Formats: sequence, structure tokens, C-alpha cells
Amino acid sequence: MASWKPNVELLQGGDEAEWCLVEQHFGGRLLAYAQRRTAGDIQAAEDILQETLLGAVRGIQNFNPAYTFEQYMFGIVRNRSIDFMRRRKLRTLMGDAENEDFPDLDAFIHNDDTPSAIVRGLELSGRAQELLGIILKEWVGETWSSGEFQRLTVLEALFSGGWRNRDVWRAFGLRDETAVAGIKFRAIKRLQQLAAQRESGGDLLDFLAIAEDGGGRLLDLDVTAIWTEHFVGCMGRKVLGELLAGVLDAKAEEFLGFHLTAIKCENCRANLDDLTNDSALVDALLARLAK
Ligand SMILES: [Zn+2]
Repeated sequence: MASWKPNVELLQGGDEAEWCLVEQHFGGRLLAYAQRRTAGDIQAAEDILQETLLGAVRGIQNFNPAYTFEQYMFGIVRNRSIDFMRRRKLRTLMGDAENEDFPDLDAFIHNDDTPSAIVRGLELSGRAQELLGIILKEWVGETWSSGEFQRLTVLEALFSGGWRNRDVWRAFGLRDETAVAGIKFRAIKRLQQLAAQRESGGDLLDFLAIAEDGGGRLLDLDVTAIWTEHFVGCMGRKVLGELLAGVLDAKAEEFLGFHLTAIKCENCRANLDDLTNDSALVDALLARLAK
């Protein structure tokens, strides 16, 4: 069953039967994933599953064949789960726990210091989002190659984990919040350079300029979604193989440990299971990395 792959062309053509098969083959696993994310809230997990399936239908025209269909589905369910948890957190913060409706976007916008930045952030075009995913990955690649693993871990915590600056500096033994802001600032600067080298980088440069000013929270949400959808923090199977063999640099291993155990990347976990064909071995590795 795990080896079943849909015909993406049929899905893109809106073939009902093929979409039903997707639901049959992935529904259970996606639901289990969502349930873990919602701490067992079944109703919420089912809502997330529905949103995931809808999201899959909406996004299928832009399906990127560089990824497997499974990665595509799990990228979506992960994003929907993150969105859900954020909305729930926000609702709790607003003291509106009885109200079952999620707060609308206005609540977000009026809660932030820079509404115009947020509105502009929301307008980031599909093309610009795609490009942002590409340059984020490029940035991760060059940061990895130059051995700046702590910087990588900090950005993963901020963008993928949604951590706050003050939690990051404590967790990673940095001097203070300013040090975290500095890392973020330099990353944005570098992303601007990478965007400028690309055709059609214009939209993205505007977006990054706002981010550089401190931006709004929704900008971070955009980056988080793209970071996850594009598997930005994921390393290839070659690196995962080196991790298994225990031949990685200690700091690189720390980054992957964070990615696998704090961010709980399902994609890399699946790759490790696949590489070893031995989930007990992978569990033992993760337990070691979690320390
Ligand atoms: Zn990963």
C-alpha cells in the first residue's frame, strides 16, 4: 500500500476516482499525523485532513515533480496543522476559547504594528513564493557547505519551528536576543542578494525589504509555510546516510538532531526509515540525537 503512487496527470485533470484513491491511500496516515499535532483532538484532526485534501486539489497544478507525491501530501498536512495550532494559540490569547469560529484575518492585521507590511506580505504572488522557496534552499545549501550549522539551526527554529527570538537565544547559548536578530538580519540580506540575481526577483525584493524592517508576523507565517512546503531544512539522502553512519561533523549532527527531534521532520524520518528499513534503529538514533 505504501508503494501506491497516483497518476498526477489524472489528478491535475480533476479525475474524481483518482482523488478518491488518494484519500483511501493517504487519509489514514494524514489523519494520524494531524492527530499527533493536535494532541489527540480528533475533531480538529479531521478538519485538518479535510483542509489538507482541499489544499492538495487546489495546489496540484503546481505539483513539483522534484518531490514525491507523499512529500507533497505531508508538506500540506504539516502546514495545515501548523496553521491550526497558531489559530488555536491566538484564540486562547484573545480569551475567546468558547467561540468556535476562528478569528478572521482582520484580527491578525489589527493586532500587528505594521498592517501595511502585512497586507503587502499577503500579496506575495505564487511566482514570488516559488522563488522564495528556491532561494531559501540555496541559502541553506551554502550555509551548510560553509559549516555554519548554528546559524542554520537558529533559522530553522525561527522559521520552521516558529520560535521566538528570546527562546532561541537561550536554547542555543547565544549572547542575547540581539544576536538572534543579527543572524536573521544577515540571512535576509543574503536572501536579497540571491533574489536580485534572479529574473522576476522584484516582488520578492519588496517582500524581503519589509522583512528587513522587522516585518509583520504574517511575513514570518509566509516564510514558515514556504520553508515547510519546500522542505528547506531537509538534507538529501546522502547526508542522512552519513548521519546513520555516524561520520557527520558534530555541529552538523546537532542541526539534523534539531531538525529531526525538535522540528520532528516527517520527511527526513521517512527517508531514514527507507534507508535503513529498520525503524527501531531509527528510533534509537533519534533518541540519541534528542539528548
Ligand atoms: Zn527534513
